Amino acid sequence: MSKIVFFCIPAHGHTNPTLGVVRELIARGHEVLYYSYEPFREKIESTGATFIACDAFDAEQKLDAKDAVKVGKDLAFSTRLLVDTTLALNDSVCAEMERIQPDCIVADSMAVWGKAVAMKMGIPFVSSTTTFAFNQYSARILKQSLGELFGMIFSMPKINKDIKRLQDAGYPVNSVLDLIQNDAETNTVVYTSPQFQPCSETFNDKYAFVGPSVRPAECEISKEKEKLIYISLGTVINDNERFFKNCIEAFKDTDYQVIISVGNLVDIDKLGEIPENISVQQHVDQIAVLQKADVFLSHCGMNSVNESLYYEVPLVTYPQTSEQGGVATRVEMLGAGVRLKKATSGAIRETVERVLGTPSYHDGAKKISEGFKNCSGAKGAGDKIMQVCVQK
Ligand code: UDP
Repeated sequence: MSKIVFFCIPAHGHTNPTLGVVRELIARGHEVLYYSYEPFREKIESTGATFIACDAFDAEQKLDAKDAVKVGKDLAFSTRLLVDTTLALNDSVCAEMERIQPDCIVADSMAVWGKAVAMKMGIPFVSSTTTFAFNQYSARILKQSLGELFGMIFSMPKINKDIKRLQDAGYPVNSVLDLIQNDAETNTVVYTSPQFQPCSETFNDKYAFVGPSVRPAECEISKEKEKLIYISLGTVINDNERFFKNCIEAFKDTDYQVIISVGNLVDIDKLGEIPENISVQQHVDQIAVLQKADVFLSHCGMNSVNESLYYEVPLVTYPQTSEQGGVATRVEMLGAGVRLKKATSGAIRETVERVLGTPSYHDGAKKISEGFKNCSGAKGAGDKIMQVCVQK
């Protein structure tokens, strides 16, 4: 039996794909300890893993779900946050690792404290990547913006100061890239298929493209009309009352069934009168909805897109960050959806109807779905992790 320790940031999109992998490892008889944050306790404990809360350690910097977005955008902010979290967790996590003697650490690519502690203590390590894997080739396809690269260069002195703080605490880290990049030496599980990942052939066999790990639906949605439109901006950047109002305006008095998940920042009472064919909720069982939906108007979080394509649902893409923009670009490249150019009610209706009325978008989604279903899934991720444990 091996002992495997997981680390994740407080974000559903980063946690959800790991849950099936944790279940798989536990079913194989291994022990899993999972460092995360209180709001994720129930989800994690339901897999049979031992949950360990990190909340108390970084009370000062208050790492919350909103930071997850900034982490992808602002490298100086990210490094400060990640270094602070690593140092706040340092004493307790290092002492725990000394006691537990894990066979392997699996950390989300943004939970760099997991990678840092593995490097410091010489523990075998697997990176868990819930977005596309990045190298020079895939970054080019996904059009990572020049602005971001300039921002990165100008913030380097600040970043280097933070990296020095890690070095002073005994972490063998030379640059921020040691922590955040997808490199050719790190064993990495990527939760998408080789077909959907851009330039997957440029990644070596340390990379396992295991496909999305789609959780089961918890209920059944009843389909009341011929076409069901699902709309969501995910769980992080979703505070957009105007957008949801425009969606309601776009589809009121139509013969479509519309389900809108607005998240917990928008006040549903402020959206005005909600017509009978539209259901607005703070949270839905997205898997249950996608099993019946005909089109998904999505912010293009990687999980939402993976789940949508898995169920052969074409997309209207409305990305809110550059990372989501990359995912949207890939959807369009593979003919599984189109981008919403303007978020007016007219453009929303026209674009959604274009996708509904053009079978090739469904065909594009179906092709990607087939690729997903041929992937090794949680089993493949489990095999990769065990391979790393054995190398110890
Ligand atoms: N989700 C859900 N119900 C909702 C909205 C979202 O179950 O009403 C889930 C969705 O299935 C996905 C995750 O939350 O697994 C969102 O992750 P994603 O990467 O798409 O976006 P993020 O929320 O991280 O921006």
